[in-house]
Amino acid sequence: MTETNPRKRVVVAGGGTAGWLAATALVRQLGPLVDVTLVESDEIGTVGVGESTIPTIRTFHSFAGIEEDAFVRATGATFKLGISFENWRRDGDHYFHSFGSVGRSVFLADFQHFWLEARAQGFGGSFGDYSFELRAARENRFTNDPEAGLAYAYHLDATAYARFLRGLAEPAGVRRVEGRIAAVERDGEGGDITALTLASGARIEGDFFIDCTGFRALLIEGALETGFEDWSHWLPTDSALAVQTELVGPPAPYTRAIAHRAGWRWRIPLQHRMGNGFVFSSAQMSEDEARAQFAADLEGAPLFEPRLLRYTTGMRRQAWHRNCLALGLAAGFVEPLESTSIHLVMIAITRFIRGFPFARECAALADRFNAQSRAEWEHVRDFVILHYYLNQRDGTFWPGRAAMNIPDTLAARIALFRQSAAAYQDQDDLFRIDSWAQVLFGQGVEPASWHRIARTLPPEQLRRALADLDAGLAARVARLPTQAAFLGARYAPSPAAAAG
Ligand SMILES: Cc1cc2nc3c(=O)[nH]c(=O)nc-3n(C[C@H](O)[C@H](O)[C@H](O)COP(=O)(O)OP(=O)(O)OC[C@H]3O[C@@H](n4cnc5c(N)ncnc54)[C@H](O)[C@@H]3O)c2cc1C
Repeated sequence: MTETNPRKRVVVAGGGTAGWLAATALVRQLGPLVDVTLVESDEIGTVGVGESTIPTIRTFHSFAGIEEDAFVRATGATFKLGISFENWRRDGDHYFHSFGSVGRSVFLADFQHFWLEARAQGFGGSFGDYSFELRAARENRFTNDPEAGLAYAYHLDATAYARFLRGLAEPAGVRRVEGRIAAVERDGEGGDITALTLASGARIEGDFFIDCTGFRALLIEGALETGFEDWSHWLPTDSALAVQTELVGPPAPYTRAIAHRAGWRWRIPLQHRMGNGFVFSSAQMSEDEARAQFAADLEGAPLFEPRLLRYTTGMRRQAWHRNCLALGLAAGFVEPLESTSIHLVMIAITRFIRGFPFARECAALADRFNAQSRAEWEHVRDFVILHYYLNQRDGTFWPGRAAMNIPDTLAARIALFRQSAAAYQDQDDLFRIDSWAQVLFGQGVEPASWHRIARTLPPEQLRRALADLDAGLAARVARLPTQAAFLGARYAPSPAAAAG
């Protein structure tokens, strides 16, 4: 039957990053077509982490009409050009996964083939030397001037981000209800969700529900029992300590991910403080040991006691089930090694709005959504597993990672690169060829062969082409300000920015 009332009542359960992103985008994009109510509990609060992002955040911000300067000021954001991976292959080792492209590809062959040929002939430096973003990051330089052409994302304060989004969503028409969801009501016949009942007794009815209740997954799992696909046999870390510290120097324009004996730790610099985390496998390291190790490695003074978060890696079997869509941690979790969770929220919201369920019957829309969502999550999962799998570390944790049975999809990619230096990005894949190449090289893969197109060049031409690329990048980097100077000049100066 045709739907007569197009104004859909959408209820967003939860007001963390996922909830406020969904509410903001829905109201800004669909405006008069939806009534959006968001329920959140001050008493429960948010997860309070999730501070490193990837460049797709900028696409989403422009989609949702979020202005960069206001966002950076409100969230104390700094700019991110990539991730520095330290000790991943083995202790003392280091590589960088940068945004943007590496070198210059031609129709016949991607840049890594030319670089491999140069290296075989004894010149060319390192692969990363041909990334503008990496070279800027090495020198702590940054500008968002489009003329400079840096590909970038942000480090942001998660709590401030949710507050900032709320400040956009409420004036645009989102109704916020504070209170604890005590029960989820379902239609006795069809099984759809009909209303949320709060502890206060208030009832919030809706046509469609978005579960953003974090790890609790109150609607998608608590009420609908959708099921969870556990990936912890591939990604066995299950715990993270998180704490903020004072900044001890100017903020770097990149995230650091440093492997340790049972996981890794992160450093995410903001304008006003550092975000630190310590990810570990509880089967391999006790909480006490993790706390001691974490505290010993902190650079600045902690601003509070480190908080412990527990999780299971995996995804909800269906992110969209009946009249409920799960977003954020309610939809699943792949550890934050490549800063992909907020991206997965954003891409899901975008796709949901494009395929918005205006009619009551929406099973086919849900099927399509779930198929794409699964492909995205599995792609991210594979990329994260790659970092663990290709390690040469010793101890009790890492050799098991190197010996595990990895997903076939990932095994095929590694085999392809090992054999021929080829990598690819399918239509819905997040990670670019350069991303795969940087991590595969970084984790120590030596391709047995590569495309020989570079051998058809006259002698010296390859050498000159690479030297020109190198010199061009050096000149572009030299023109960039330091990130600290850029932040100080453009945004409210912070002590760290002033120090830089
Ligand atoms: C250790 C760790 C590190 C991470 N690092 C990154 C990163 O660097 N980059 C990245 O992109 N992502 C990262 N993430 C993921 C990121 O934090 C989340 O994707 C993002 O914050 C979204 O969280 P959320 O909104 O789904 O959940 P939450 O922030 O937990 O929000 C849940 C909301 O639901 C509400 N709620 C729950 N139960 C009830 C109830 N009964 N009644 C009413 N309200 C309720 C809460 O009050 C809250 O408002 C990380 C996650 C973890 C665990």
